[in-house]
Amino acid sequence: MFAFFNMIFSTKIVNWYYKNKRELPWRQEVNPYHIWLSEVILQQTRVSQGLPYYFRFIKNYPTISDLAQADEKKILKDWQGLGYYSRARNLHSAAKTIVKKHKGIFPKTFQEILELEGIGPYTAAAISSVAFNLPHPAVDGNVQRVISRIFGIESPVNSTIGKKEIESVLEEIFDKKRPGDFNQAIMEFGALHCKPQQPHCPTCPFAGECFALKHKKVNILPVKEKKAKVKTRYFLYIVPQQGKKEFVAQRTEKDIWKNLFEFPLIELDESLLMPDEKMIKEILQGKKCPPAWKIKKGSYKIKHISSEYKHVLTHRIIYARFVGLEMDQSFRPGKNWIAKPIHDHEQFAFPVLIQNYIDDREKGK
Ligand code: SF4
Repeated sequence: MFAFFNMIFSTKIVNWYYKNKRELPWRQEVNPYHIWLSEVILQQTRVSQGLPYYFRFIKNYPTISDLAQADEKKILKDWQGLGYYSRARNLHSAAKTIVKKHKGIFPKTFQEILELEGIGPYTAAAISSVAFNLPHPAVDGNVQRVISRIFGIESPVNSTIGKKEIESVLEEIFDKKRPGDFNQAIMEFGALHCKPQQPHCPTCPFAGECFALKHKKVNILPVKEKKAKVKTRYFLYIVPQQGKKEFVAQRTEKDIWKNLFEFPLIELDESLLMPDEKMIKEILQGKKCPPAWKIKKGSYKIKHISSEYKHVLTHRIIYARFVGLEMDQSFRPGKNWIAKPIHDHEQFAFPVLIQNYIDDREKGK
């Protein structure tokens, strides 16, 4: 029965897709640039959250050449709030590569697409199948879930063996005549119908064949190997101000938020539960403060100490406070620091954590 089912699986899921798919803007036309943008924006992001960013990028950078020529600061600003900023930096680098190596025309082979910055096998398969009808299965979390449940893959889907088992099922069921529709169909089915929680089993076109439904394993499959432990970090940002200016710089560390703007940062070992001026002064004069930010005693006044902000990233939880300092005229910031007007933030891309603080400060919170 399974061999027969494998043959008709594609027809069933593609027909389901034609009837149920969402009308998304990049599905209205076959434009590899638009498909690429949508794929990158929607990584780790819900469609409703990603859509405004998609429209903003299409409007501000109508062609790949426009994106390649744009200032990275402007691109990061347009990306602000979406997180995983390396995606925006890679988009920019890949656009430059396309202009340099492919005369501004999006490459048409799987290998050339895979060689672009920030594009892995999944994204290369999605773009090449949808834009150029190339027969490459795109495997994301939705595809893993649907295949694991329907075909009974019980190995962890993020393990080497689980990935191989999914690959071998895909070899059997993949529709080489309609690769783009097949890839989109299975992903859309996972996103809308065979959802992680409360899938619509009673109305499912695969209810008769689904392994998970038959064996009462819908809530168990797919199995996943445990992820890396979440690390907690404690940040104390100094917000040095002098008259109507305050100082920011682009972050150069590779761990998070590279090239976004920030205030001087002191990383602490633990949370400051009830910080007061004495405690903050000890930190500013103590070992925890990087030498570049040691500030002369008596050269500043503490203007405010913010409440604690909690910010959750994939493998990190960050607890942060912001300390506003009014510096006297003896203060000289390091060479990479930019003096910006206190109320002017528009040209600077900040991580959401810092933007939230700035927004609260502007509202007088
Ligand atoms: S029967 Fe339920 S678990 Fe199986 S494919 Fe359909 S929605 Fe998913």
